[in-house]
Amino acid sequence: MKLLISNGYVIDPVQGINTGRDLLIENERVVGVLERGQERPADVEVLDATGLVVAPGFIDLHAHLREPGAEYKETIASGAAAAVTGGWASVCAMPNTDPVNDNPAVTRFVIEQAQRAHLANVFPIGSITKGCDGKELSEMGEMKNAGIVAVSDDGHPVPNAGIMRRAMEYARGFDLTVVDHCQDSSLTAGGVMHEGRWSLILGLRGMPAAAEDVHVIRDCVLAKLTGAAVHIAHVSTSGALDAIRRAKDAGVAITCEVAPHHWTLTDETIAEFDTNHKMSPPLRSANHVAALLEGLRDGTIDAIATDHAPHHADEKELEFDEAPFGITGLETAVGLAFDLVNQGVIDLERLVSLCSSNPARIFGLHDRGCLTKNAHADITILDPACEWTFDVSSSKSKSRNTPFHGRNMTGAAVATIVGGRLVYLHPDYNRITDSKSRNASAK
Ligand SMILES: [Zn+2]
Repeated sequence: MKLLISNGYVIDPVQGINTGRDLLIENERVVGVLERGQERPADVEVLDATGLVVAPGFIDLHAHLREPGAEYKETIASGAAAAVTGGWASVCAMPNTDPVNDNPAVTRFVIEQAQRAHLANVFPIGSITKGCDGKELSEMGEMKNAGIVAVSDDGHPVPNAGIMRRAMEYARGFDLTVVDHCQDSSLTAGGVMHEGRWSLILGLRGMPAAAEDVHVIRDCVLAKLTGAAVHIAHVSTSGALDAIRRAKDAGVAITCEVAPHHWTLTDETIAEFDTNHKMSPPLRSANHVAALLEGLRDGTIDAIATDHAPHHADEKELEFDEAPFGITGLETAVGLAFDLVNQGVIDLERLVSLCSSNPARIFGLHDRGCLTKNAHADITILDPACEWTFDVSSSKSKSRNTPFHGRNMTGAAVATIVGGRLVYLHPDYNRITDSKSRNASAK
């Protein structure tokens, strides 16, 4: 089956394409980016992307899909549905499930559930240590054979530098990127928000920026020592970014991601005690937000990741001190990323690379995050002019914990194609498939 996405504006950072082009895909692969006006192949279905941007399918490096073990919060199927609705063709699933993905049986289960859902690509991340308890290394090689794309103990930092060193050396042998949730637990114990003026005013226990800084600095040092590919999850402080910038300048193989809530909101918003503003790392003060925007602008930050962390309403409705950390993010991330473009922080091509080509490179996902010949036909179609309001009541996620309900945004993912299949189309954009019927009736 051939599909032509015509009259769109194609952005492919890998090939340096940023102009009006047609894109031809056949079965599950990209055939090529075509000059407009070239003769169309016979028997082709057409999507009319006039006025829209055609990009490589977006890849989220960081999502918690909660299955196995907490299916009341999210399942792989509901998470994958939320992903494609938000424009993510692929999601990488963190291993802190119950049981933890620390062995190939769990890895295979995640992959099978994703195949059953048949929506987004789901790439499992294996744990660094057994049970994510920071003590004994997991079965990385066997999990790699079963299909993991990286290792992480996300949710927990790996506290012991000696174990982290061995994990990096071990992972390097299997060509796996090590993803770390950077937080020195001895500095954050009991903390529920950023330590600063607002934690003092509100009388809540703080988590200092220094807790993230010292852990990131340690990981930069260990990355240099081991030569492993190290990726810092959800960076949130200016000190962490400075350390990453210096390490990159020195040639260390280190990358990092940022989550939209960290550049969008500050700790001041916690004054309402809304637990949908409680996450880890916490929302930071304005000077850290300014540093994140600079990191997005100057290229220090490599990727935008959602850190989608669904929780049931009964859990989030507890007192601020008691509620779990985390918010959903798959359906709001792209809209919030467009804020960066609309505010002139980054351009559209950089947005596309932060969400597609860079994530593919960081986890070594071959033939993804690009529109080169024979790449997987994963496509995200964007409308930079789409004005919309996020309504959590229509979310595809099983959970509702978001601070962005009712937020107005300009710019959205309006269609998602996975493996050549249109798996999501925004209901207001049915017009793009109309040419298909016109094409058919003209025959
Ligand atoms: Zn984390």
